[in-house]
Amino acid sequence: MNYPVSVVINLPKYAKLSGPLTYFHDESLAVGTLVRVPLGKQEVLGIVWQEDNSGRLSSTGTNQTGRSQDLNIKPITSEIVGIDPLSQDWRDLVAFAATYYQRSLGEMALQALPPQLRDLNAIQIARRLKKNTGQSKKSLIKLKDSASLTYEISDPGAEVVLTPEQKQTLGAIDSSLGPFLVYGSTGSGKTEIYLRCVASVLEREPGSQILVMVPEINLTPQLEERFKRRFAYLFKENAPVAIVSMHSGMTAAQRLQSWLAAHSGLARIILGTRMAIFASIPQLKLIVVDEEHDPSYKQQEGARYSARDLAVYRGKRLGIRVILGSATPSLESWHHAQQDSNLVAPSRYQLLKMPSRIGHALMPRVHLIDLNQQPRGTVFSVQLLDAIKLRVQRNEQVLILLNRRGYAPVLHCQDCGWKSECMHCSAYRVFHKVDRTLRCHHCGVVERVPRFCPQCGNADISPLGKGTEQMEELLGTLLSDVKQLGGEPLSILRIDADSTRLKGELSSQLARVHSGEVNILVGTQMIAKGHDFRKITLVAALYPDTALFSSDFRAPERLFSLLLQAAGRAGRDAGIATGSGSESEMWIQTQYPSHPLFQALLSYDFERFASEQLTERAQAHLPPFSFQALVRSEAKTQEEAQLFLNSAKDISSTVVSLIREKYSTSNSAWLQHEPSLFPAIAMTIQRIANIERAQMLIECDSRLMLQEFLKMWQEKLHLLQPQFKGILRWAIDVDPLTI
Ligand code: ADP
Ligand code: ZN
Ligand code: ZN
Repeated sequence: MNYPVSVVINLPKYAKLSGPLTYFHDESLAVGTLVRVPLGKQEVLGIVWQEDNSGRLSSTGTNQTGRSQDLNIKPITSEIVGIDPLSQDWRDLVAFAATYYQRSLGEMALQALPPQLRDLNAIQIARRLKKNTGQSKKSLIKLKDSASLTYEISDPGAEVVLTPEQKQTLGAIDSSLGPFLVYGSTGSGKTEIYLRCVASVLEREPGSQILVMVPEINLTPQLEERFKRRFAYLFKENAPVAIVSMHSGMTAAQRLQSWLAAHSGLARIILGTRMAIFASIPQLKLIVVDEEHDPSYKQQEGARYSARDLAVYRGKRLGIRVILGSATPSLESWHHAQQDSNLVAPSRYQLLKMPSRIGHALMPRVHLIDLNQQPRGTVFSVQLLDAIKLRVQRNEQVLILLNRRGYAPVLHCQDCGWKSECMHCSAYRVFHKVDRTLRCHHCGVVERVPRFCPQCGNADISPLGKGTEQMEELLGTLLSDVKQLGGEPLSILRIDADSTRLKGELSSQLARVHSGEVNILVGTQMIAKGHDFRKITLVAALYPDTALFSSDFRAPERLFSLLLQAAGRAGRDAGIATGSGSESEMWIQTQYPSHPLFQALLSYDFERFASEQLTERAQAHLPPFSFQALVRSEAKTQEEAQLFLNSAKDISSTVVSLIREKYSTSNSAWLQHEPSLFPAIAMTIQRIANIERAQMLIECDSRLMLQEFLKMWQEKLHLLQPQFKGILRWAIDVDPLTI
């Protein structure tokens, strides 16, 4: 007997075929089962799904008669055995994400699975499954690098006496369902809160699983360590996969292993970056999103989902707690955590404040240096340089933050004005002195630095502007006669995307900082986040000003957060480092010292900064007071890219009318709102790798209206696009983070 099976596969390009396809099988298959199915000449992975409109299939995947008559329907190739069907919760999550972010269900669902699951056939997967279980049994006995051995010693942190703020926070989390926004300065003991919440859920609910998300797991091995040490006992019960990671730095085989561990319930704690939000975690009981403000929670290509927002959705659906934590919450989350001014509606998130740092470590004192008062061309003011000398001579560490890698952002010819523009992009190629190359940070093109100006032949071409390489070099020169406490010369280390390109380099460089061997650390935002540097007592931010006048309304928010996080690297252990408990310091060199952002930073007043920003946003009708989407298009010429978008704009009012017609009986308030579409413009970096890029902003006061609009409009755009032969790609970004 043949049963029809409705299967979702990845078909993003054929919008019309994006729903489930029908196959048949000789027995009925549970919804959520993984199958291999033929597609043309290929064989692909699919997921058994319930038919959503025809009603031919019931929720268990069999139809009423149990027979399939249609001869065109093909049989599935194989069922993947040994992997339980994906749960209703998981299917709802990907279905919601697909709808909300305007992607096809197949694309969203299949991309949410680890690549090997898609790429291996049923036999290969069966072999892999067998190997995995075999491995974990053996490794229980002789694990080389090894969970059970290293983490035998349990974490002394489990014994610490909680501060009153921590107790209060935990009490609040215990007594309601959240979602919670834990707003606590760096070093206020937020991680300890997460650990305790995880511990109590593990204790209370047998077999429970917990998802902990971090913005960039490569940068936070310390967090992983802390979890492994704290929950060492789990390794004994569940073998090495009791605590697993999920991030893009892992091999495909490792990712499959973690995924299977989570899906089977063996993994009790899943630590991961944004992709982990789509993990199948059948016994999920708690979600923690650390550094919830971090832009890396938003996927920036393909399906542009926000893992933080999906975490809140997933938690709400499951009725479990979600804890968002940050020292500088995103203004969206901050807004959701504010009580309505007339106190009628409760806030969406429960705000839990932890203002004090553990051990009364103070945040560093902020010094603003007015660059207008300094000689032209000053890179390090005399005051800052003196302060740095003082610190390094006491064997304390200094961190210099400059968010621009390379030696100089541009190379230019003083004679004819030539600049090192990229031939493929509307951007300059960056001068890297280390290997004497010009590199485009957008398309990746690399070229040796020319000896003479390519335009006029002049030999006198020179760098313009400053990057981290140059800072490293300059500090070496400026401080050449300064010695460490023991009389040895200073050690200056640069950490950025260039210095850490090879695997393992970041951790070995960080180890040098932690060991105290390094005196001065120069780096990009990579080093400002998360690291628990114990001996840094001075942090300096150079050239932060560009963000103040950016066309992106979120630039100040990001700058404030970056500076505050960088400041948080200092004074974590000031007392121990200096033996004197002397105050640590944060230096900012700016041309706009009286700017409200810096003024708020002087007293680390996030709340003041946030309220000023939110007032401005309310006035300007920007998120979180309105909802946005962007359509981006790519074409050979800018004109074509914009023409398509503007034609798309022309049909928008028709779409709105159609929606109003469709819901004419419902009389809902959201129908009154109308999305505004702005004219198409070139993107800030207009051309990358010879492709012209344009974008158009859509704004609406109602999220519902925007959703309905995007859905219907997108269908129309698929029909419209073939008229624009020059369009290479176009896509919608819902809740865009960069504008
Ligand atoms: P955050 O995540 O807010 O930066 P952490 O939880 O990492 O803060 O805490 C900062 C430091 O203080 C860590 O070394 C942690 O072990 C320690 N710590 C946290 N809570 C306490 C406590 N109640 N008593 C003593 N030390 C604590
Ligand atoms: Zn020239
Ligand atoms: Zn380029």
